[in-house]
Amino acid sequence: MPLPVVAPADADQRRARKPVVVYPNGTLKRPDLSRLEKAKATLEKIDEVIVPPREGATFRAPKGHFIRIVSVDGPQVGDLNLWNADNLAERFFSGKTRALHATHVSTGDRLWSTMPYLRPLATISHDTLGWYGFDQDGGGIHDVIGTRCDPYTNRLLSGTDYHHCCHSNLTRALANELGVSWKEAEPHVHDVLNVFMCTGFTHDTKQYFMKASPVRPGDYLELFAEVDLIGALSACPGGDCGDSHSSDAVPCYPLKVEIWKPDLAALADWPFPPVSPYGGEP
Ligand SMILES: [Zn+2]
Repeated sequence: MPLPVVAPADADQRRARKPVVVYPNGTLKRPDLSRLEKAKATLEKIDEVIVPPREGATFRAPKGHFIRIVSVDGPQVGDLNLWNADNLAERFFSGKTRALHATHVSTGDRLWSTMPYLRPLATISHDTLGWYGFDQDGGGIHDVIGTRCDPYTNRLLSGTDYHHCCHSNLTRALANELGVSWKEAEPHVHDVLNVFMCTGFTHDTKQYFMKASPVRPGDYLELFAEVDLIGALSACPGGDCGDSHSSDAVPCYPLKVEIWKPDLAALADWPFPPVSPYGGEP
């Protein structure tokens, strides 16, 4: 028998303390989106990658370019990884991005890199789903709370093997990009930005939930590359993630990644972020 837990006499008073936002709004400098808009006046598409359903693909985006992740054909969720193209140890840090911004990100938020670098790898410069906000269930779009569907958790919970989980798709895509084995690529794969996914925590038990994504063909999430990037995107086997994942059960659609070159002269004095100046303990 577990020991009973008894609430103290002042339990309600303790619960009534006011929450304090850990990283208060206003302490993080916001990017100048109007300057990015000006630089977009002369966009030229220089590359396009189609991510097939239940597969992954990589792309490269030079610093100062724009990446558009576009919904095509049907509602589809994408799991995104990002790395500094010159140093794979510097990669997207979903936990710190969540702490600095929120559980879900949109225009003006930044995608931060791991320590000891801790700088924006990319800035969200446009989000056609920015209208969604938070719904009555507490669901929002583009979360940094989920990890990625993976074959290990699937094995744990279902006892079966499935090889097209986002973790597997991202690993396979990165291995192809780098010309290395699956085993060599796998440790570089990390917690994702869940592009177009609608998720939240249930009001009562605070359990992670997903519901059908509101994304429709033509919607896109646009990122501004703050450093030279390698990206990997998986078209999640969950499709719009309104039902199940880690199987071939639901309809799945491709995603498109477009790389756009702006008027680089308009970005001549853009404050591209250096790595964190913190030098560590002497
Ligand atoms: Zn997935």
